[in-house]
Amino acid sequence: MQYDVVIIGAGLVGQAVAAALVQGMGNKPVRIALVDPSYNPDAPTPTTSLQTVDIRVSALTAQTQEFLTRVGAWQRIPSASLSPYTAMHVWDAEGTGSVTFAAAELHLPCLGHIVENRQTLWALQQAISVAEGIDILPVTVRYCDNPDSEGYVPVVLETGTILRAQLVVGADGALSRARQWAGLATREWDYDHHAIVATVECEQPIQATAWQRFRPEGPLAFLPLAHHPHLASIVWSTSPAEAKDLLALDDEAFCQALTAAFEHRLGAVKAVSKRASFPLRQRHARDYFCRGIVLAGDAAHTIHPLAGQGVNLGFKDAAALSEEIVRALKRGISPGADAVLARYQRRRQADNLAMMAAMEGFKRLFAADMPMVRWLRNEGMRLFDRWSPIKQHLVMKAMGLDRL
Ligand SMILES: Cc1cc2nc3c(=O)[nH]c(=O)nc-3n(C[C@H](O)[C@H](O)[C@H](O)COP(=O)(O)OP(=O)(O)OC[C@H]3O[C@@H](n4cnc5c(N)ncnc54)[C@H](O)[C@@H]3O)c2cc1C
Repeated sequence: MQYDVVIIGAGLVGQAVAAALVQGMGNKPVRIALVDPSYNPDAPTPTTSLQTVDIRVSALTAQTQEFLTRVGAWQRIPSASLSPYTAMHVWDAEGTGSVTFAAAELHLPCLGHIVENRQTLWALQQAISVAEGIDILPVTVRYCDNPDSEGYVPVVLETGTILRAQLVVGADGALSRARQWAGLATREWDYDHHAIVATVECEQPIQATAWQRFRPEGPLAFLPLAHHPHLASIVWSTSPAEAKDLLALDDEAFCQALTAAFEHRLGAVKAVSKRASFPLRQRHARDYFCRGIVLAGDAAHTIHPLAGQGVNLGFKDAAALSEEIVRALKRGISPGADAVLARYQRRRQADNLAMMAAMEGFKRLFAADMPMVRWLRNEGMRLFDRWSPIKQHLVMKAMGLDRL
């Protein structure tokens, strides 16, 4: 039960780290354990209707597409489940300012894809399942101890089994226990928002466009789904009190409230799937590693979903971390060595922090209701919309296209 790397968490980021390690090592041997009680190897059912589409979707950037292709996952997502969006339309609920980003202006086929999380997870699972050297253990990790005299971290499973790892990757999500076991402190605060997610059917087609209305209570997004031209995935961020009231409404009343909150932009909302709500909190680990444990994805940082960047940052962590681990293993260095993990931290921390600062700025700018700020915000949006070079630069950065 001795491994080069034990990954705690087989969510999107944990599986991405495993897939990237296998791809990076090529035919060199590597011993990896991927541990998660919720690991489900079953293929997702085809999704064609309001009730069968996963309500958890992510907007994936071109950079993520390139990474997932490299690790052998993107090509396994059924093309009918890839929802490209060719435009993004953002406007201020408290004025007349708006901004439209169009793929055609940038000579691109699309700005990104909306993909059900379970499809991406399934594709990663398929990529990993063909690899040798990975043990997938569907159990909970109870505890990680301090490294032993040989530098191995003991990973204690709920079954009582103890794994020994040169490096433990904590990809166990926002409430990471690995972060606690490593003693890694976070800087965090509440956004005072809950996000309601659901699939809805609209009177008008979604037109392969990502729509977002900035209300003072929080942004409301409609994201296109390729399964049907009138289906959209919504992310409705609002105060915890309003979210509670909205969740308590019956379907018809919810659809009416949603239609009004979205200013009838896509006509009436005619039907809604089951709904779920998530409290939104900004978190960032001050350090990403300690005592042979390193963090990636939501375990290291969580941000507001308003620009759909959370898991895209997580995939960038997975890419950088796996590169550093592969480099170390190929040179015969322990992947848990501080120098290896410090390089990963240097590569990822500044980028994650910059994105978090930008999201916080957007959130505050659109929450401000002082007349002067409102006027400046709307004027700014109008100017920005006409200022092509800076607009193009921003969208290329958000899509990760500036680094490809
Ligand atoms: C409403 C909403 C909308 C979003 N939209 C987008 C978007 O459009 N684009 C985008 O990029 N991001 C988006 N995000 C963010 C994205 O969903 C997350 O960043 C991403 O899911 C995090 O993946 P992860 O693998 O790091 O963590 P998780 O998905 O939380 O996975 C953690 C895994 O660890 C396992 N685990 C936990 N503890 C243990 C343990 N002790 N032992 C073993 N296993 C354990 C869990 O079972 C779980 O499977 C959104 C988030 C929200 C809330």
